[in-house]
Amino acid sequence: MTICMPALDASVLARRDRIIAALQRIVPDGVLTDPVTLRAYECDAFTAYRQLPMIVVLPETTAQVAAILRYCDEAVVKVVPRGAGTSLSGGALPLGDAVLLGMAKFNRILSVDYESGTAVVQPGVTNLAVTRAVEGKGFYYAPDPSSQIACSIGGNVAENSGGVHCLKYGLTTNNVLGVELVLMSGEVVRLGGNELEPRGLDLLGVVVGSEGLLGVVTEVTVRILRTPEVVRALLIGFPSVEQGGQCVADVIAAGIVPAGMEMMDQPAIHAAEAFVHAGYPLDVKALLIVEVDGPQAECDHLIAEIESIAAKNSAACVYISNSETERLKFWAGRKAAFPAVGDLTPDYLCMDGTIPRRCLPRVLRRIGELSAKYGLRVVNVFHAGDGNLHPLILYDASQPGELDRAEEFGSDILRLCVEVGGVLTGEHGVGIEKRDLMPVMFNEIDLAHQQRVKCAFDPSLLLNPGKVFPQLHRCAELGRVHVHGGKVPHPELPRF
Ligand SMILES: Cc1cc2nc3c(=O)[nH]c(=O)nc-3n(C[C@H](O)[C@H](O)[C@H](O)COP(=O)(O)OP(=O)(O)OC[C@H]3O[C@@H](n4cnc5c(N)ncnc54)[C@H](O)[C@@H]3O)c2cc1C
Repeated sequence: MTICMPALDASVLARRDRIIAALQRIVPDGVLTDPVTLRAYECDAFTAYRQLPMIVVLPETTAQVAAILRYCDEAVVKVVPRGAGTSLSGGALPLGDAVLLGMAKFNRILSVDYESGTAVVQPGVTNLAVTRAVEGKGFYYAPDPSSQIACSIGGNVAENSGGVHCLKYGLTTNNVLGVELVLMSGEVVRLGGNELEPRGLDLLGVVVGSEGLLGVVTEVTVRILRTPEVVRALLIGFPSVEQGGQCVADVIAAGIVPAGMEMMDQPAIHAAEAFVHAGYPLDVKALLIVEVDGPQAECDHLIAEIESIAAKNSAACVYISNSETERLKFWAGRKAAFPAVGDLTPDYLCMDGTIPRRCLPRVLRRIGELSAKYGLRVVNVFHAGDGNLHPLILYDASQPGELDRAEEFGSDILRLCVEVGGVLTGEHGVGIEKRDLMPVMFNEIDLAHQQRVKCAFDPSLLLNPGKVFPQLHRCAELGRVHVHGGKVPHPELPRF
């Protein structure tokens, strides 16, 4: 296979060569420049947009990361941090004139303190590897994105990732106690620590969810929890999505906080069943998986209460897991829902918006109408307990205009989320995907203040540019009252 780099003029090539030489001095064995090798980094899981990076560098130590960032700051070179590349919002999309800083070699668990319930890990460690490392001692790491087998803790911190257990145990931000962060200047700072109360200003809270725009995370202290005595799941089928949605609202209104509460609509149930044969009922319109955990007596009580609430909402069937194998089988379909949908269609866009739970039936009805309007199928999977929707829009990129229609359909869904009192994103971040929709949720003053935070960490705007902010203003301009003028143009988005 021949892969061509875009034609670069002599001055650009000479600059690239100088950057390569400088990076090789810092990381002698970790600089990738061959176009075939670079191809592996051309996109993240938001595959509609692709761009070969100028150079990939793979450091192994904090000192190397600091030296790379210091050099890039001084030489005015853009840097895009990357974990495992599973972002669904294009957060790790490379730029043709930027260094892609891959954190894959930061893959060690540094220490575990079972007494205080904390672990110190490098950012390239996968989410699931943290649980695997501590489960033998009866502990686990609670945030569990469906991508947990692949995604990195550094990416989780940058995206403030969630998962099915975040309803009860919180998102990444509630489970990270401290980070080591390298700033674009090359300075290394420690935010938070291994105690529950932050020291000084809660800058850790600013950094979690900052999408690689403020600094590069080189070490993370996470909270680990004791594995509950009992974990059981209920699989509940409903004749309509409305009844399933009402059951979710009634469970929460009863004061129950399940460990997880996930819903799938009928197309998602069928796709998941065909993919993993989890034993899902195919004749129901909505399927709810509710997990409870804790002491035996508490779980027995909660299961009985949830069964009774489900019956009041005309549940068509209720299955309760009687073994760990059965519980995992209930989850297998939900966890594999995204790849299962990949079997139905050449391409799909995974949306991520959050709405007040009570609006679920109305929003799903409207998504159905939009599906008819745009002539594109949609499959709905959602973290029902916290109102986080993941409509998957099915399209075929090889058909002229379908990607445009899919993107417009997705934008309408996200606008709808904001319209009903929700927000643009639940857990996948803004990236490039929702960047231009930010003004739907924030006014110019809100956005200017958010960018002032960016400027405090990265005044040259070199770290992950083109992501999150619909427009970037030069930091000097932001010091004034007005933010008009002085805009830094974004690079053109390289749609595939
Ligand atoms: C099939 C599938 C299922 C998914 N399910 C979920 C889910 O249930 N919940 C959920 O929240 N997400 C989910 N995701 C999205 C994705 O897995 C998460 O956003 C994840 O946290 C990204 O981690 P990553 O290591 O792949 O990061 P990347 O994709 O490499 O990067 C994501 C962002 O983090 C930044 N970044 C990465 N590492 C660092 C670092 N060390 N320092 C600073 N910035 C950094 C990047 O610049 C980028 O902005 C899913 C994705 C897929 C493909």
